[in-house]
Amino acid sequence: MNRLIVQKYGGSSVADTDRIKGVAKRVVRHRKKGCRMVVVVSALGDTTDKLIELSREITDSPSEREMDMLMSTGEQVSVALLAMAIHKLGYEAISFTGAQVGIITDTSHTMARILKINTRRIEQELKKGKIVIVAGFQGITMTQDITTLGRGGSNLTAVALAKALGAMYCEMNTDVPGVFTADPRVVPNVRKLSRISYEEMLELASAGAQVLQPRSIEVAKKFNVPIHVRSTFSDEEGTVISKEVKTMEDIVVSGVTVNRNEAKITLCDVPDKPGIAAKIFKMIAQNNINIDMIIQNVSRTGYTDISFTVLQRDLSKTMKVAKKVADKIGAGIVTFNDNIAKISVVGIGMRSHSGIAAKMFSSLARNKINIDMISTSEIKISCVINRKQATKAVRAIHKEFGLGRTR
Ligand code: ASP
Ligand code: MG
Repeated sequence: MNRLIVQKYGGSSVADTDRIKGVAKRVVRHRKKGCRMVVVVSALGDTTDKLIELSREITDSPSEREMDMLMSTGEQVSVALLAMAIHKLGYEAISFTGAQVGIITDTSHTMARILKINTRRIEQELKKGKIVIVAGFQGITMTQDITTLGRGGSNLTAVALAKALGAMYCEMNTDVPGVFTADPRVVPNVRKLSRISYEEMLELASAGAQVLQPRSIEVAKKFNVPIHVRSTFSDEEGTVISKEVKTMEDIVVSGVTVNRNEAKITLCDVPDKPGIAAKIFKMIAQNNINIDMIIQNVSRTGYTDISFTVLQRDLSKTMKVAKKVADKIGAGIVTFNDNIAKISVVGIGMRSHSGIAAKMFSSLARNKINIDMISTSEIKISCVINRKQATKAVRAIHKEFGLGRTR
């Protein structure tokens, strides 16, 4: 049987009809090599944002079911247009919505999870020699309600289809040539990584690199689906994200990221006794606020300070909750700092190499950058610093670890 590949094209790759024609040519080129093709597409350009804006003109609190009804229309436009563009080139193609190809999800509207995929219809069409085009980002519940998979969810559609159909790999065609050692807009001489592990990609994504939707990486990792991230606009090889291979260990640090979207909250003079942290973070979780870093100081007097970071957009909501908890547990004042940035270095080589943290800290020290908070995982070290010094910090660390093109 001919090999099957799943290709995904993001919104900017299909932003207008000229680009759609370009994508059609690209798909056909693969088809000519004899591949069976399933193509997942996002909505044109910033269609999804525009649809969301429309809803906001009507209400601040739209029904989530209706939001899914609305947002899912974007991808229906792009699949149909791409099918037409492929027909025009003399090839057979057929477009489908998520529901039509049996992408069954749970009922959590706007953030649904895929439960199963009935691949029969796709397989039938592939057998007839057709290029199958699937609307990304959407599915349907058992009770026939349309759902969406979270922003950037076309990636998830592509990975899930690759797994369900047994594709060799999943190709993510996007507007960047791959995954870099740092954000090219921040660091001048970044290098494109040829390979990276799922774990590293997940850490980079959570640390602020916005290449792929983290959920799609998790699913790819779970089912071991290799992902090839590459540019729609060139034939250059991109970055392969796959399970860890031996040679990856030699690379101590793969990338440096900066996240400017968080703010820090500190509860001062918190009584140091069992159950207090549980109380604080339970209340925060109950308000659907996600916490990133948490730091608790040593207490000398029976009281301690607890700091944590949240997304900046959750700051005012979190402050309210934090003040309420502080009152309840007899803590002191609650302060915040929304002028922070989180700098992270990521690399699986950290497991077997020591001194990475020291190297990062001395680079910051030499640049007179103060560290406010530190957190580490097996393959990541993050420091919170003053936001004003973020660019300087990433550049210095990128250089310190010799990540650039010119060493
Ligand atoms: N169109 C959706 C979004 O903008 C899904 C996607 O692009 O993957 O989030
Ligand atoms: Mg989009």
